[in-house]
Amino acid sequence: MSSFEWPEKLPFLGAFLRLRSEAMRCRGCLGELRENSEAGLCARCWSGLIPLPVDRCERCALIHGLDRECPEPVAWTHGDAIWDYHGGRPAFGALLMPGIKAGEWGWRTALLGRAAAVPLPAFAAEVDLITTVPAHPWRKWRRGFDLAEDVARLVAQRVGKPYKPLLRKPIRSQRQTGLPEGRRRRLPRKAFALMTPGLEGKTILLVDDVWTTGTTLLRCAELLAKAGAAEIRVLTLFRAL
Ligand SMILES: [Zn+2]
Ligand SMILES: [Zn+2]
Repeated sequence: MSSFEWPEKLPFLGAFLRLRSEAMRCRGCLGELRENSEAGLCARCWSGLIPLPVDRCERCALIHGLDRECPEPVAWTHGDAIWDYHGGRPAFGALLMPGIKAGEWGWRTALLGRAAAVPLPAFAAEVDLITTVPAHPWRKWRRGFDLAEDVARLVAQRVGKPYKPLLRKPIRSQRQTGLPEGRRRRLPRKAFALMTPGLEGKTILLVDDVWTTGTTLLRCAELLAKAGAAEIRVLTLFRAL
């Protein structure tokens, strides 16, 4: 009988087990992945998808006291988001979104699946058209998808209203991501262009993935209003409070 071979194989076994246990860890909190995990994230992390506070403003989706006029620069009658960007620990939106923007296809699919199952605000259904804040064309091409557009299409499908791209981002426009907040607020007015004129009398739902300062939404809403839209409403996946 040959000599016992285990000692030689043990280092490999150890490496294999270590790899396996790393693969079984949540990519959000590094905790153990148990049942109900999805896309490499544990159920506890997913429970960070929490709705915004009930007493939020119906325009800016922030809390500033309902007896006050909305102090935020908004150009729409209704504004809301499905989830709080900083909900959960670690803040789940702040974990997911950069990952998805870097091309995390699994996270995107799982998030859209959740968005397909949550209740939508009633105002999202009472519109003529649904459109999206456009992505920079080459970023969309590189990533293979544009989450804001995916959400807009999903909402359109859910409420049974048409989706139509109305705005575009010029190829040479500046990138927003990575700019400090002060510069993001000073987003140039020509950051977007209108693709389809003739929106007279239409109520339009403008959809985006994350609503932070609202400057991007504001520029888009202003363009839609200039094209004749009667009313603009805003819905995003996340609101950063
Ligand atoms: Zn986790
Ligand atoms: Zn407000």
